[in-house]
Amino acid sequence: MKHSRKKSKRQTKQKSVIYRTVLSSKDHPTAEQVYERAKKELRTISLATVYRVLKDLVKEGKIGEIIINKQSRFDYKTAYHHHFVCLYCGKIFDIDIPMCDIAKEFVEGPGHTIETAQHIFYGKCKNCREKEKK
Ligand SMILES: [Zn+2]
Ligand SMILES: [Zn+2]
Repeated sequence: MKHSRKKSKRQTKQKSVIYRTVLSSKDHPTAEQVYERAKKELRTISLATVYRVLKDLVKEGKIGEIIINKQSRFDYKTAYHHHFVCLYCGKIFDIDIPMCDIAKEFVEGPGHTIETAQHIFYGKCKNCREKEKK
């Protein structure tokens, strides 16, 4: 009994540190990056634990998950938004576009209901374009 309580307390701590790590990461980190950052506070944590906790947090709706190049990226922002991925530096930008009426018409017209959407735009970011000009 005593042992399991101790274990669940540790799990609660791990979860809150991982949650805080994602909230303070505005760069849409991978699980490996969250692991590297969380390790500063949780020295003994394993990558497998980080994966599991991240999946739980996504299921609970506390953090977002986007798949880019077949890799999961985690997002502090859970409100409806889209992403722009730079093909040159790999940075991911948040793009705020409200749900578009035309998309609504085409998807909901045949009778479906949109609950969420994730658009990913690819191109060259502002920073990379400026670098090119020089
Ligand atoms: Zn770029
Ligand atoms: Zn985002």
